Amino acid sequence: MSRPFIQIVEVGPRDGLQNEKTVLSPEVRADFVRRLEAAGARRIEAASFVHPKYVPQMAGAEEVLAALPHEAGRSRIGLVLNGRGYDRALATSADEVNVAMSATDGFGLKNQGLSVDQQVEMLAAIVAGRANAEGEPGAAPSLSATLSCVWGCPFDGEVSADQVAGLVGRIAALGVAEIALADTIGAGDPWSVTKKVEAARRAAPDAALRLHFHDTRNTGLANAHAGVEAGVTILDASVGGIGGCPFAPGATGNIATEDLVYMLERGGFDTGYDLDALIETARWIGEKLGKPASSALSCAGAFGTRANS
Ligand code: MG
Repeated sequence: MSRPFIQIVEVGPRDGLQNEKTVLSPEVRADFVRRLEAAGARRIEAASFVHPKYVPQMAGAEEVLAALPHEAGRSRIGLVLNGRGYDRALATSADEVNVAMSATDGFGLKNQGLSVDQQVEMLAAIVAGRANAEGEPGAAPSLSATLSCVWGCPFDGEVSADQVAGLVGRIAALGVAEIALADTIGAGDPWSVTKKVEAARRAAPDAALRLHFHDTRNTGLANAHAGVEAGVTILDASVGGIGGCPFAPGATGNIATEDLVYMLERGGFDTGYDLDALIETARWIGEKLGKPASSALSCAGAFGTRANS
């Protein structure tokens, strides 16, 4: 019997690195992507088309993607905050564009200078531009949106399931096929994950949902488990658990890919990853960043690979 597949979107080269102090060159970042692909990653956030003045760690997005020409079965994602970023991404080999949005006005205004309503307008303009460009070669990488602060906002505080569902419904109505719900500051708990996933699904029954957790307060893997139990089959993770939280100095980053792979594979799911190669990559990037990876698996190693019966 084949095992159910959970797709992990590797976000280390973007969400991970952009929250690390050490700035790596585009060459090293492209090498990082290739190593992750060799370990089994098939969908990777490879670059962010944000102004380098704001995020110097992501400078040279075009150079990263120039080193990663299209390859069948591999998707390199470029993150954008606005139409200008979208146009930059379009000029590269990015296979997919992810539009960053926020569930709250406070974070949206701080992070990209746009209220929630203005973000929806921005996304609508991108979608309309894609419709006009239909048929032009290379004009339409696939499009997804990520909603940050779904489980809490550093400026606006608590975020309700209704608030999230309303926005998910508006994004889905624009025709965006995949929507990621992100716990940007790692404030969520497994029970609220269940609630918000159910609310989002009711608001957008046809959209694919993806979940993005940070392990800021040690609830990351429990939240991932709740998401899978709620029927979500796409999860973000960053190798080595690299990264952090801009609003919690000293905090750890995204849930670690190798820890998530271990949990899922032991639970009987297929992820397509080679756990040993992943742990090796976590150690490699730890050396590049000058600090050991914080993931449990890079310290403890794996224990068996078969499902725990
Ligand atoms: Mg994040």
